[in-house]
Amino acid sequence: MSDGKNYQVFNPPKNRNFPLSLSIIFILIILIFISQDTASLIPILGFHGVITNQNSVTHIVQDRIHYSRKDLEKILEYLIINDYWFLSSQDLYNILSSQNPNISQILKKRKPIMLSFDDGYKTVYTNLLPILKRLEKKYSKKVKVVLFINPGTLANKNSINSPNLGCEELREGLQQGFYDIQSHGLNHKDLTKLSDKKLIQELLQSQNELRKCTHDLDPEQKVASHFAYPFGAYNPRVKKYVAKYYLSGYLYNNQLLNRNLLKNYYEISRLTVNRQESVIRLIEKFDTKFNQKSIKLLSIKEKPEKTTFK
Ligand SMILES: [Zn+2]
Repeated sequence: MSDGKNYQVFNPPKNRNFPLSLSIIFILIILIFISQDTASLIPILGFHGVITNQNSVTHIVQDRIHYSRKDLEKILEYLIINDYWFLSSQDLYNILSSQNPNISQILKKRKPIMLSFDDGYKTVYTNLLPILKRLEKKYSKKVKVVLFINPGTLANKNSINSPNLGCEELREGLQQGFYDIQSHGLNHKDLTKLSDKKLIQELLQSQNELRKCTHDLDPEQKVASHFAYPFGAYNPRVKKYVAKYYLSGYLYNNQLLNRNLLKNYYEISRLTVNRQESVIRLIEKFDTKFNQKSIKLLSIKEKPEKTTFK
């Protein structure tokens, strides 16, 4: 009994501090758990064009936004091997609006990701589509990509040298099940700077033209149901009008989409991707299980390709 008493007298400061530090640790663990709850994070990668070494004309500043075909193929292969779920814009909308209480569990198992390509560069047809076909043959898995298109800048049949793809090319990728075609405004205008009338025109006309191009292939009108703000520029007025004609709106803010923190369907975050982003650094941004073993796997594949410094 006296032992017990001594203990109490000897230990009071420890007894008082221990629960406090314990609760701080507990709170920290909870915070870390919430921020790393992988089921609430959905990576949406925002690409533009896809270039080969021959394509890379470095004097054009704009070229920096494009991504290397070789690196993109590595990323796609990694995602396929690791059984990622390539979301369409409608898949993501269904997830975000789902009332299923088990949705977190489902997402934890299925590992959703979205690959989006803005501005309708022709290289999304010439360089990306062949990769998607090749990978489908190799792994029997279809990679779906979301294209945010400005129909006002689409190439027509006479403009062979246009850097943009045309309606026929969009139709081909759609028909084969690789492209999910969505709107990026008619002419890639900063919508925050337009009058109401012009703004509505950018939103409505782009939707009409994309649906006109694909009408016989898209009976349910899934084409141009979702919108990506040109330059990622938006404000409450733009958001209000986009919500009139589209089911959701995508930003270009270099952030991971966190389902639990999303306030509405018109502020969907995307990670920006440019050619400076290495394969490893990009995958590390969204894949918490990406480790040394995966890095080794990628670098082995890299070896056979010899670089010449000429
Ligand atoms: Zn754009």
